[in-house]
Amino acid sequence: MKKKFFISTAIDYPSYFPHLGHALEKIQADVLTRYKRSQGFEVHFSIGTDEHGLKMEKSAKKANKDLKEFVDEMSDNFKNLSKVLNISNNDFIRTTEKRHKNVVLKIFKKIYKNGDIYKGRYSGLYCVDCESYYLQKDLVNNKCPIHKKGVEEINEETYFFRMSKYQKKISEHIKKNKNFITPQSRRNEILNRLKDPLQDISISRKTVKWGIPLPIDNSFTLFVWIDALINYLTTIDYPNSRFQDFWPADIHVIGKDIVWHHSIIWGSLLLSVGLSLPKKIFSHGFITIEGEKMSKSLDNAVNPFELVKKYGVDPVRYFLLREFSSTEDGDFNIGRLEERYNSDLANGLGNLVSRVLTLSAKSAVILNDSEESDNGLSKEIKSTQEKYHQAMEEIKFNEALESVWQLIGVCDEYIEKNKPWELAKNNPEKFNSIINDLLVTIKEIANLLEPFMPETSEKILKQIKENKKGETLFPRL
Ligand SMILES: [Zn+2]
Repeated sequence: MKKKFFISTAIDYPSYFPHLGHALEKIQADVLTRYKRSQGFEVHFSIGTDEHGLKMEKSAKKANKDLKEFVDEMSDNFKNLSKVLNISNNDFIRTTEKRHKNVVLKIFKKIYKNGDIYKGRYSGLYCVDCESYYLQKDLVNNKCPIHKKGVEEINEETYFFRMSKYQKKISEHIKKNKNFITPQSRRNEILNRLKDPLQDISISRKTVKWGIPLPIDNSFTLFVWIDALINYLTTIDYPNSRFQDFWPADIHVIGKDIVWHHSIIWGSLLLSVGLSLPKKIFSHGFITIEGEKMSKSLDNAVNPFELVKKYGVDPVRYFLLREFSSTEDGDFNIGRLEERYNSDLANGLGNLVSRVLTLSAKSAVILNDSEESDNGLSKEIKSTQEKYHQAMEEIKFNEALESVWQLIGVCDEYIEKNKPWELAKNNPEKFNSIINDLLVTIKEIANLLEPFMPETSEKILKQIKENKKGETLFPRL
């Protein structure tokens, strides 16, 4: 039986058009997925949309559309984004689906039975865009620190989840498992927040109709966040055999603003149900555009669809993972993308493949994988593989790519040093052996790049197999 690996992104809230931040998260998770598959794992990779809640009600009203129609249309934008980005997810889950409602009800009943839900009264400050409560001290100039918008004062009856009960267990788990929250900076933030007593959280809303009704009291709907987090169980068909195979999740890939929800709220819910915690909560940074945060509700977003149309899917995937650290914020700049396209892709990878295939096609060298090279490239391949795999295990995509580009540089030097075009006539044996070394190396480069640039990798492998130079991989801009 194949080893199992369950990876998810956060499900997106489709009240707004997808932006580059959504693209980054899908691409990161897709690269990990393809990498794990190449390592022999059976991977379940889920993405989807989080479709309930007050913000959705309000957005549909603003767009003057029927709520269900609006949600379907907006969810499709995210589905299309994953297609355009060549994301290899197994499932696209929508929280308005019946299968999800069924799982939510099962989970809710377990938590209720366990005595972890009670009725009370909540008063607090609520940001509709975040679908989250804030304390007065969290606000900046009396406004939501993320959206810079006013918050609503809410005072209503509600059901609470006894999150406080799980503080000790969760704290211990985070302390014991150093990589449970990655990177360490996010882990430290959570540990700091856990120094204060954990509050029980309100998990129902009386005024919001667009949600899953509580099975114990139909005049309430379930708070959208609780509903959303349970998607990770729905996608693997809780509590059936696929769930048995794939839980606990190996990694939730999420934005740095929702680490708390995934480690503490989700963690407590799982403990209440009696399930293991996910193995890793991995948080990426935010992409800014000329220094401004790109948020769902801010208008400065660069449109990922247009970027792919203009530059192609693989260059966009490459740029987002090469330019920025996996876990830190990065500032997006179209000039940088074009620079990297020309230098790394057109002049670097594309040019190397074209040179090698031109030479090999001319003299009909057929790739011989088994031949051990004594010209030094095999050592270089091995050292690249080591760096690459270590970086991939540590989820440092930019370092993995850097190691591959070092190898591309080594190949260029190898060609300059050996001048195969001169050898072709006067030393055909040496010529053949050098071209073979290069073919073996670019084949390995194509394999290492498959998780990042699947189409490009396939094109390179096809050219090698047919021993024929194909169309230019990356025409210069
Ligand atoms: Zn907000």
